[in-house]
Amino acid sequence: MNLSLFAGSAFMKTHGAELAKHGLDFAPVSNPFASVFPDGSWCGVSTDTAATTARIAQLSAADAATWTRLTAGFNAEAPHLFGLLGTKMKLHALAYFMLKTLRGKGLSGTLDMTRFLLQSPRQWLTQTFTSPKVQAMLAAWGMHLDFAPDTAGGALFPYLEGMAGQAFGMVLGKGGADTIIRALTGAIEARGGKIECSQTVSRILHQHGKASGIELADGRKITATRAVIAGVAPGALPKLTGTQSNFDAKMAGFTHAPGTMMIHLALSGLPDWSAGNDLQSFAYIHIAPSLDQMARTYQQALAGLLPDEPILVVGQPTTVDPSRAPDGQHTIWLQVRMAPGTIQGDAKGEIAATDWAEAAAPFAQRALDILDRYAPGTQAKILCKRIVPPTELEQDNPNLVGGDQVCGSHHLSQNFLFRPARGHADGSTPMQNLHLTGASVWPGAGLGAGSGFLLAQKLTGK
Ligand SMILES: Cc1cc2nc3c(=O)[nH]c(=O)nc-3n(C[C@H](O)[C@H](O)[C@H](O)COP(=O)(O)OP(=O)(O)OC[C@H]3O[C@@H](n4cnc5c(N)ncnc54)[C@H](O)[C@@H]3O)c2cc1C
Repeated sequence: MNLSLFAGSAFMKTHGAELAKHGLDFAPVSNPFASVFPDGSWCGVSTDTAATTARIAQLSAADAATWTRLTAGFNAEAPHLFGLLGTKMKLHALAYFMLKTLRGKGLSGTLDMTRFLLQSPRQWLTQTFTSPKVQAMLAAWGMHLDFAPDTAGGALFPYLEGMAGQAFGMVLGKGGADTIIRALTGAIEARGGKIECSQTVSRILHQHGKASGIELADGRKITATRAVIAGVAPGALPKLTGTQSNFDAKMAGFTHAPGTMMIHLALSGLPDWSAGNDLQSFAYIHIAPSLDQMARTYQQALAGLLPDEPILVVGQPTTVDPSRAPDGQHTIWLQVRMAPGTIQGDAKGEIAATDWAEAAAPFAQRALDILDRYAPGTQAKILCKRIVPPTELEQDNPNLVGGDQVCGSHHLSQNFLFRPARGHADGSTPMQNLHLTGASVWPGAGLGAGSGFLLAQKLTGK
C-alpha cells in the first residue's frame, strides 16, 4: 500500500515522467501513521508539524522539545542517511561516502552517526524520549522489517519513518498499488520489451561458468546473451543453477525473518476508534502499545509460537483514496506481525493446531478481537473477509519464505556489505552473466526499486 519508497526513489527521479505517461498516479497522505494505547489514548505523526508536536506535548513536554530539535535537524541529517541507503555497497563507493560524511559532519559527528546506526530501537528511543507511548509509536516501524526493540541496527527505522512521515507524508497508489506495475509494464512494452507472466522458471541454463538462459516449467528455453537477472530468494538460486559452490552454500544459508499474516476486510464503514474518530483519517494505525510487548511478540514468533498478543498494522487505504471501494464502503487490512512460518505451539495455549490451514482462522480471530478492543463494533461491519496466512503468501510468491514479507532479515550481519553475502551486495554471482536482484540484495526490501536500479546502471555502464 505504501509507495513512499518508490515515489522517493532514484529510479523515480530518472523515469518518473515516462511512468506518468503510462498512468502512474499517486494519492498523497497527510496523516501517515498513529498508535493507539490500551488506556484509550493515541499519538500520531502528520505532515502538520505543529499538530504532531502538540500530540507529543500532551504526553511529555520534554519529548515535544526533543521532537522539535529532531525536526530542525532532519534536513541536515537526511542527505547522510538517505545517501548511505542509496550508496553502492562496494568498498570504493563506501569509502567515498565515508569521506563525504567526514567532510560534512566531522569526526565526532561521523562517529555519532555510526553509533546511532548500530543502536537498537530501544536504546535510541529510551535515550531520546521519556514517554513510553512516544517510544512505542516510533518503535512500531522497526516491526515492519524485523527490527524488534532490542535488535541492533534498528534505530534508523523509527527515526527515519518518524521524521520522513512528518516531512513528506506517505504516498499511496491511486486506485491501487498496481499503478506502479501498470506504468512499468507499459513503459517496458512501449520500448519493445516483452513480458510473460505466470510462467515458472525451473532452471537457469549455463555453460563453462556463464549463464546462457532459462528453462521454463513447460520446457521452453529462452536464451540470454547479455544477462540472466534472477529476482528470487537467495535459497532458490542454487536450486535453479544446480551448482554447489561456496557462494551457493551462503545463498542456501540466507536467513529469513519471521512471517506475516494478512487479513483483508471489506467494511460497511471505517472502524470507530475509541481513542477518537480523528484516527479514521490515518493511513496506518499501529496496535503495538509497548516496547516490551513488541519484544515479546517477536521472541514468540522466533520460537515458532503464535503470539498471544500479536502486533497489528491496520491499513486504511480508502480513507485516503475512496476510489478503492464502492461509495460509502471501505476496505482495511490487518498485517499481523510477527507470525511463525512453521507453528510449534500457541503462546496463549488456546490454539492446538500447528498447521496454518487450521490455525489461520482462530489466529485471525485473535487479531480481530484485538482490533475490536480498540475499535468496538468493527467485526459487525465486515462484509467480506480474506485471511492470508504465511504459508499462502509463500505459495503465491516463493520469495516470501515462511511468509517473510521482506525476503530476508535485515539484521546487521546480513545488511549493507553483507546483503545477501560479502562480495555480492551488488547482485553479482560467481557465474558470469548471472545476477541476483530484489529485496534480498542491498539496499533491501520495499518498493524503492533500489537493487534493480543499481544493477541496471551497472549493466548499462551508467
Ligand atoms: C503483505 C506485504 C505487504 C507489503 N507492503 C509493503 C508496502 O506497503 N510498502 C513497501 O515498500 N513494501 C511493502 N512490502 C515489501 C515489498 O512488497 C517487497 O520488498 C518487494 O515487493 C520486493 O520486490 P522484489 O522485486 O524483490 O520481489 P517480489 O515483489 O517478491 O517479486 C518476485 C516475483 O518473482 C516471482 N518468482 C519467484 N521465483 C520464481 C520462479 N522460479 N519463476 C518465476 N517467477 C518467480 C514471484 O512469484 C514474484 O512475483 C510488502 C510485502 C508484503 C508481503
